[in-house]
Amino acid sequence: MKYLLERTARGVLEEFARSNVLLAFDFDGTLAPIVAKPDQAQMRPSTRERLQQVSRRYPCAVVTGRSQADALQRINQIDVWDVIGNHGVEPGSASEEYRALTRSWLSELEPVLGGLQGVRLEDKQYSLAVHYRECRDRAAVARLIRAKAAKLSDARIVPGKLVLNIVPRTAPDKGTALMAASQRLYCDRILYVGDDVTDEDAFGCAAPDRILAVRVGRAARSKAPYFIRSQREIDALLDVLLEARPGVAEDA
Ligand SMILES: [Mg+2]
Repeated sequence: MKYLLERTARGVLEEFARSNVLLAFDFDGTLAPIVAKPDQAQMRPSTRERLQQVSRRYPCAVVTGRSQADALQRINQIDVWDVIGNHGVEPGSASEEYRALTRSWLSELEPVLGGLQGVRLEDKQYSLAVHYRECRDRAAVARLIRAKAAKLSDARIVPGKLVLNIVPRTAPDKGTALMAASQRLYCDRILYVGDDVTDEDAFGCAAPDRILAVRVGRAARSKAPYFIRSQREIDALLDVLLEARPGVAEDA
């Protein structure tokens, strides 16, 4: 993995910036710091300001595991071009079938997990998130959640940071949804930044000359060839993108 913000890799970033590129970002851990209570996650003011400027100069998308409605509230006032929610399900594949499936998982899991200390089941309409960040014995609880989730029908289990995501097995993942978005917006290339297991689908969704995949935090096993060191460096990355397309923000 190469560090994106050192000089030679920066050249690759600038080359992508000059092309017909779609910029796409995960939300939690990428645009916004991870916080103990996920419902309090928000971008720093410095990031908001940069993202607003960037989205005036480039086609921009947010691709998140949050529901689309939840994500829209958090990026409030910023005119990004596309918001893809539920790990790729929304808006393109939001169906009554997936809604019913998610409800059935919830009714199976609620009686066994709902009462556990620190466990929170989040119904995101088209997928389910089981949060265990606030558990005292996280390892044991994670094993229990995995065992229960493995028995659910038509489910794909996507581990995350102290959360287990349960998404419809046949639904598009972040990579499929991202490719569809780039075609919809007539973009030839993609820059994608993400920090978690679900982002690996996006990192590997196109050939390396078509996607610049950047992971937040270096990792031994990732499909992303580039990394930034921490979530805080998202502002520096956005600055490079702004410098590469200067001077059209004020008349927007
Ligand atoms: Mg994330």
